Amino acid sequence: MNIADRLQHIQERINQACTRSGRNRDDIHIVAVTKYVDTLIIEEVLQAGLHHIGENKAQDIMHKWEQLSEPKGTWHFVGHLQSNKVKYMIDKCTYIHSLDRLSLAKQINKLAQAQHKIIPCFVQVNISGESSKHGLSPVELPSFIEALGSFDYIQVIGLMTMAPHELEAEQTRPVFHELKVWQEKLQQENWSHAPLSELSMGMSNDFEIAVEEGATFLRLGSALVG
Ligand SMILES: *Cc1c(COP(=O)(O)O)cnc(C)c1O
Repeated sequence: MNIADRLQHIQERINQACTRSGRNRDDIHIVAVTKYVDTLIIEEVLQAGLHHIGENKAQDIMHKWEQLSEPKGTWHFVGHLQSNKVKYMIDKCTYIHSLDRLSLAKQINKLAQAQHKIIPCFVQVNISGESSKHGLSPVELPSFIEALGSFDYIQVIGLMTMAPHELEAEQTRPVFHELKVWQEKLQQENWSHAPLSELSMGMSNDFEIAVEEGATFLRLGSALVG
């Protein structure tokens, strides 16, 4: 199957999940995670009509960005981000999905200021509590997000999580549900620096459940690009 066919199949599954859960399809965006593939495939993804591209390594972003012809789409950083790598991706990625510590926020803020742009970020949350996963535990969120208010070049647009890989799709539901509950709770703070209107959750194995539980950005790799 080519990318366009795979995408059509995914779109149908998203539409059905929206129908089941009363969601508006326009509220849901697909980020094509292209970390497994080269720029030829990224071109195919863009031609299929997707424009959100997700990568998880600063080096790959630099390399692929150079090779790709215009328009290159809108790029998202979805992996663990080391502070010393921010300088390589900050001018290319519009969104960062993995903000999980103040030292990283400080570095993003400094380099974003130099570029005169505000970076929309998701705070990564480790709902499942697996030690192998990055992200804050939910109880740390209120003070962390409040502290992000001191960084003028960071806008906290939402929360991000990953469900444990080994779970069956249906078993991921409580993870996504809990992220939604935290979103609603934290939105009551009405922070101007943290509207928290978005939820980045759902991958190839579990995106329909994530849609049903309120995802607005799905991060799809293998289901889309093989
Ligand atoms: C690789 C990756 C994805 C995509 O995973 P698939 O299971 O291939 O869809 C999504 N989010 C993050 C953070 C990733 O690293």
